[in-house]
Amino acid sequence: MNKRIKDNAFILLTLPLVGLVIWWTWPSGAPTSPAPATLPASTFSTSHPATQAATAIPAGEEPLVDVKDVDPRIIVDIRYATTDNFMKRVLYPANRAMLRESVARRLARVQDELAAQGLGLKVYDGYRPLSVQKMMWQVMPNPDFVADPAKGSRHNRGVAVDVTLVDANGRELEMPSGYDEFSERARVDYAGGSETARRNRDLLIAIMTKHGFKVLKSEWWHYDSPGWERCSVLDVPLTDK
Ligand SMILES: [Zn+2]
Repeated sequence: MNKRIKDNAFILLTLPLVGLVIWWTWPSGAPTSPAPATLPASTFSTSHPATQAATAIPAGEEPLVDVKDVDPRIIVDIRYATTDNFMKRVLYPANRAMLRESVARRLARVQDELAAQGLGLKVYDGYRPLSVQKMMWQVMPNPDFVADPAKGSRHNRGVAVDVTLVDANGRELEMPSGYDEFSERARVDYAGGSETARRNRDLLIAIMTKHGFKVLKSEWWHYDSPGWERCSVLDVPLTDK
């Protein structure tokens, strides 16, 4: 083969391959064109791939476990199992925090380290079914505070946890804002409030980060576990055991 034929053959062979790679790596979640303004929001969100939540744990994925079964020392206070939440409605059937197994074990390691300092963890929320996420989005459609169900929250994957610090008697330590307070005070860099509250917040962030969790900048209480992308968005109902 002379050089020109060789070059042409190379281009002919590689062009479709390049096209294939671009097609393969193009973000599938991004709509190719904006949804028409006349379409109701529900039409758009139900057509999004992420809303195809699994109603059972897909084969090969980690199970959801009860945090209390992994570490009974961790206090569980699920606000969504009461009316004491921004929705003012009971959304969960029981005061249970479910997480993917490796996430619950990671949290237990944080608890170990805190216990050595006479402190502990309190969990406000863990796994959250996608159907509950949709209800929350209707009330608070602000992506700073509630994940758009069209994308799915890390809570819907069972890899996010909302926590605070407690003392040896289980009393919550002072923080710059209350849980689920949708304000500037919830931000991780909020410089107001008392020095004690900021120090407690920074201690929580430091210890969670040390164990691999990543804090959400707009909520000092929210942490994502690494490897979340390997866990599907779920709509497995919560049960009371
Ligand atoms: Zn959260």
